[in-house]
Amino acid sequence: KAKGSGRSTYAFYSQDLTNQARQRVELGTALRQALEQRQLVAYYQPVHCLRDGRIIGFEALVRWDHPDHGLISPAAFIPAAEESGLISSIDRWMLQQACRQIRGWLDSGRSLDFVAVNISSRLFTRGELDLHVSQVLAESRLEPGYLMLEITESAVMEDADAAMIILDRLRELGVRLAIDDFGTGYSSLARLKRMRVHKLKIDQGFVRGLPHDPENAAITRSVIGLAHNLGLSVVAEGVETAEQAAFLLEEGCDLGQGFGFGRPCAPERIEWDLERMHYGQTRLALP
Ligand code: C2E
Ligand code: MG
Ligand code: MG
Ligand code: MG
Repeated sequence: KAKGSGRSTYAFYSQDLTNQARQRVELGTALRQALEQRQLVAYYQPVHCLRDGRIIGFEALVRWDHPDHGLISPAAFIPAAEESGLISSIDRWMLQQACRQIRGWLDSGRSLDFVAVNISSRLFTRGELDLHVSQVLAESRLEPGYLMLEITESAVMEDADAAMIILDRLRELGVRLAIDDFGTGYSSLARLKRMRVHKLKIDQGFVRGLPHDPENAAITRSVIGLAHNLGLSVVAEGVETAEQAAFLLEEGCDLGQGFGFGRPCAPERIEWDLERMHYGQTRLALP
């Protein structure tokens, strides 16, 4: 084929897109079977109090334990799951897993404040989410305050008026609400003020360059101030180093989550009593 020929480039791309589309459909089918055959697993990443390093909760994160390919991360299959609509079933399954896990931890004497579950925009806008959540809570005999739902900023802002109604209904149930990946979704501050949520999660993209990147430092500082002024608590995502944790603590951030504290892992592998290290005046569980 002639190099730089528009026609062959087009043919190449359209062939490629067809392949991609086919792969997505195949992935969607495989994923449906995975769900039925119980190949999906819930991993849990600890969320720590920045002041004393204690684990106060977890975020539940889905993994696909594939018989041939091993553990597959959600980035590889969530897009296909969203496209096929299967994401709602995955989210509902994760909700059930998380509630059962909380019940198990409480029954074995563990103390924790919450487990957070990610809710896709599909499930969020479907209409019967509050009903489903209350059923799942009842099945695990769980007080609603133990469950936190994470909805991304972009999902909330897609249709802010509709989102507000859904959030209010969930809030009335007594579950806690967090806006995920905050700072990436063009919130209007006027709308944010009306969203009656409990937490903002600062996207890891802003935490990455801390404390040296001046723009990220300014953004992080502003988000913490904004959240606190609105009466919300703040979770920093993607905390990898003690320096980042120290900066966040200094700026008044409440909670931190990241590889520096602990990677997402199977529930039986959670280290509840990490040996803590003194870092400045605080005790952080960072290495
Ligand atoms: P998210 O909700 O923002 O979750 C945080 C992601 O950051 C997780 O990736 C987590 O493993 C990763 N992470 C945590 N600490 C660090 C760190 O220190 N450094 C870095 N580089 N990354 C860190 P994961 O588990 O691959 O999930 C990716 C995304 O997939 C999630 O982002 C969420 O949007 C989505 N997701 C995961 N599980 C579910 C689910 O059950 N339902 C839905 N709807 N989405 C899910
Ligand atoms: Mg999340
Ligand atoms: Mg996030
Ligand atoms: Mg994310």
